[in-house]
Amino acid sequence: MGEPQLRVPGPTPLPARVVRSASRPMINHRGPEFAAVMDDVIGGLRWALRTDNEVLLYPCSGTGGLEAAAVNLLSPGEQALFCVMGSFGERWAKIGETYGADVVRLTVPLGEPIDPEDVERTLAEHPEITTVFVTHNETSTGVTNDLAAIAGVVKSRGKMLAVDSVSGAGCLPLETDALGIDVLVTGSQKGWMAPPGIAMIAVGAAAFERSETAKCPRFYLDFGREKKSQDKNQTATTPAISVMFALQEGLAMLREEGIDNAWARHARVGRMIRAGVEAMGMKLLAADGHRSDTVTAVHSPADSPEALKNLLTTLRTKHRLVLAGGQESLQGKIFRIGHLGFIDDADAYTILALLEAGLIDTGLRTRGGLAIAAAQSEARGAVAPAEPVSVG
Ligand SMILES: *Cc1c(COP(=O)(O)O)cnc(C)c1O
Repeated sequence: MGEPQLRVPGPTPLPARVVRSASRPMINHRGPEFAAVMDDVIGGLRWALRTDNEVLLYPCSGTGGLEAAAVNLLSPGEQALFCVMGSFGERWAKIGETYGADVVRLTVPLGEPIDPEDVERTLAEHPEITTVFVTHNETSTGVTNDLAAIAGVVKSRGKMLAVDSVSGAGCLPLETDALGIDVLVTGSQKGWMAPPGIAMIAVGAAAFERSETAKCPRFYLDFGREKKSQDKNQTATTPAISVMFALQEGLAMLREEGIDNAWARHARVGRMIRAGVEAMGMKLLAADGHRSDTVTAVHSPADSPEALKNLLTTLRTKHRLVLAGGQESLQGKIFRIGHLGFIDDADAYTILALLEAGLIDTGLRTRGGLAIAAAQSEARGAVAPAEPVSVG
């Protein structure tokens, strides 16, 4: 019996050397050993995120990072734009509302990206908007935004920009400083080959300045309070030390590979997965040209939510492949494949072969071998084989 193939879009599989690293004994978080780990982790994150900004670490899941961004940038009654293209964008908007911000939503249909022109128009219609919150990679729909174009619009109007790249950073091309991103949120359990438990937030000088006057209530998540400790290579409260060890090791692996190579690896694996899924006759939720290289959302090949559930259960119990269902209104309608972090071509072939076996087992397909051929073509950078294959 082998290990399960955990291919949900977070938490993601851990390399053996990361697991070993995370199992080390505890150390004093106010001592020199921890300060060295902290220094290395922050340096690695700055390198991977292409930023010279401070990177604050909080012991919480990614949502804590989203909340930190909102409460440090906004005051009650302040108008802010939240770009919503799925569950995570909606979550951020709800956080804004919870703290009394005047939330303007720019909502697009599920599967669509945010159109930078719509951002431009919304900012023109609502000149009082001070801050724009946007999701880089919407994990619920498998859509990646054109972040550079959106950032260009936001920055040309002199607004503050906060980006949720929880499921993008470390995997998708991301130039935090070149795009002028004021607050960038990511989380340990997605692209970083580490377990859940740390939100990492890159905070620029203008955002720190804003946080000094922002009136939303906060204590644990206050940027200024955390920065004061991090200036001494400590954290304000007890850090998630084991997750820090893991993150350090994951970052070491990324450094060995090179961040451009990691981005290219995710792009290739993303193409392989999409080609394989489409070769099996299934349809992708995300709009062409905006399909994510970290998570693929697939329209259900079954005619009922129960039959889709049966497929996912068969995959998990018989083939040890763990995939994710849809969230909220997409529940029973789609399934999602996470392909981020510790993944390469061999894993892509495994995922596709197991998925195809499950489709055959549950009677949703009768013929195998289609996905692998398509993925191989993608891996070679070639177009799909010219030779026609009969499905049936
Ligand atoms: C996973 C994720 C989050 C945070 O989720 P947590 O469960 O709180 O870690 C936020 N945004 C996106 C896009 C995500 O994928």
